[in-house]
Amino acid sequence: MTSPIQDYLERLHRELAGITDGQVATYIPELAKADPAGFGIAIATVDGRVYEVGSTHMPFTIQSISKPLVYGVALEDRGVDHVRRTVGVEPSGDAFNSISLEPETGRPMNPMINAGAIATSSLVAGATREQRLARVLAAMSAYAGRALGIDEAVFESERATGHRNRAIGHMLRNYDIVTEDPEEALDLYFRQCSVLIDCRDLALMAATLANGGTNPVTGASAVRSEFVGPILSVMATCGVYDFTGEWVYRVGLPAKSGVGGGIMAVLPGQLGIAVYSPALDERGNSVRGVKACETISRDLGLHFLQPPRASVSTVRASYTLAELRSKRRRSAAENSLLAEHGAAARVFELQGDLRFATIEPVLHAIVDDPRPLQFAVLDFKRVSHVDGAATRMLAALIGRCAGRGQHVVLTRVRRGELLAALDTEIDPRNARALSFQPQLDLGLEWCERALLAQHGGTHASSAIDRLADHRLCEGAAPEDVAFLETLVSRVQSEPGALLVRRGDPADAIYFLMRGEVSVVVDLPGGGQKRLSTLSAGMSFGEMALLAGGQRSASARADTPVDCCTLDREAFARLETERPALALRLLRNLLQGTLQTAVQLTGEVAALEG
Ligand code: GLN
Repeated sequence: MTSPIQDYLERLHRELAGITDGQVATYIPELAKADPAGFGIAIATVDGRVYEVGSTHMPFTIQSISKPLVYGVALEDRGVDHVRRTVGVEPSGDAFNSISLEPETGRPMNPMINAGAIATSSLVAGATREQRLARVLAAMSAYAGRALGIDEAVFESERATGHRNRAIGHMLRNYDIVTEDPEEALDLYFRQCSVLIDCRDLALMAATLANGGTNPVTGASAVRSEFVGPILSVMATCGVYDFTGEWVYRVGLPAKSGVGGGIMAVLPGQLGIAVYSPALDERGNSVRGVKACETISRDLGLHFLQPPRASVSTVRASYTLAELRSKRRRSAAENSLLAEHGAAARVFELQGDLRFATIEPVLHAIVDDPRPLQFAVLDFKRVSHVDGAATRMLAALIGRCAGRGQHVVLTRVRRGELLAALDTEIDPRNARALSFQPQLDLGLEWCERALLAQHGGTHASSAIDRLADHRLCEGAAPEDVAFLETLVSRVQSEPGALLVRRGDPADAIYFLMRGEVSVVVDLPGGGQKRLSTLSAGMSFGEMALLAGGQRSASARADTPVDCCTLDREAFARLETERPALALRLLRNLLQGTLQTAVQLTGEVAALEG
């Protein structure tokens, strides 16, 4: 099945192929040989997919489209200040071959027309002609994702006839903008313009710029990402010569054209467009190229000043601890304390890229919560990137929280990758307002503990001595409990030991007397997920009393643990010999189960809300 995108491009290609206006360039004699019927369109995404139609493998010379690429090379080789001193960034509004220099200094204003580009070529590093050319070819090849070469015939043709460019080069030397032999800069300039590419290469070059300087197919870096903004800026303001204002208005994409018939346009972060069609308008831009870019931008909604609204909110779920708890099971007293005070802790499960526009609603929600939050838990599981501005905003939030006794808990942060810079942004005096937890659930538990401590919650007892004090025995007659004591076995486990293993036969219920046990399941990708954590007075493995069957989860001792176990046969005996006790146990069990069910229903509602 062909993609709708492919169908769209084919239809567009058919429509625009009917346009026969324009002339191929003839001022460089060799360019006059181009076939005006040649016509290719290609779109490459930042994921490296390429859609192409028509003559996308027909070679042509890159010409002026080399200008932004070599501008990037100069930025890498000399740094921003040096390049800016040599060439300005003003759209001069002049033709590509105009001798447009600042009156006093002789500095070319516009790096995307010949004067600026020749000055730029003089900045490429390398001790010899060959080294400088190799430098430029390597960069262009990295953009295209394959080794590019030069069309010698076009090069010779331009070198022999490029008197105007030669005049520009010598003018630049006269003003000391070019500081060495101008013939060297001109030689490199003529050669860089003669690099042979095809329309598909050009789409990948554009996609490389859209992708922050990294070729989306090869993964190789063509230019340092910090220079992509400057390159796209000069393309946006100067890319199609004295047509740039009209272009930005109609197409709205940073672009560059060349007299070889190519034109590329870039939508940062998304895609690159390339068109090849050598018939040019009077300004030297491809007639069909301009038309195709304009139509594609309009049809696909690509104008960079009409950006779509971010389609998904950064906050994928938000709830308070009153609505949703950690997996630690708690006493009724603790549960009611948390129900009362839990609204002081709010969780924000975040997703996507955090930058100014997407972190702003999160900051707003935290800072302007009508009930001042004591704890903000930010879960980073689904955050894909945090930029510098968002990192600084987060650090500032933490500083603000520190000053007001509030606390920020960051969970599931892939440190190094996501928040490497946070530590350096945070004033060490404020660090106490921040904690990291590897799991969201542990973050919740951390807040619960702090809230309970603050509101005088009694610590769940870490041990009970007698079965009579166990929750399951509440309300049972003392002589019944004494009988139960004769039926149970005592087991002791070391931290880390499995008391119950998923899949084993469910043959006994466990009364937890001392220590902590977590009920866990293995995750497919390795590691374990905890379903609940239990403390003394609670029970697990209850299924044994009813259905039998297999264990649905494992139970792991988190601390040294003492349990009493009651097996199926013993419980069957209870049912006939001490029916009141059996009923009591089942009742207490049901009560606990119902409590859990009510809490889970509430949590599901909170998550869906
Ligand atoms: N090599 C060509 C020149 O300098 C490039 C011009 C262009 O593509 N606009 O004239």
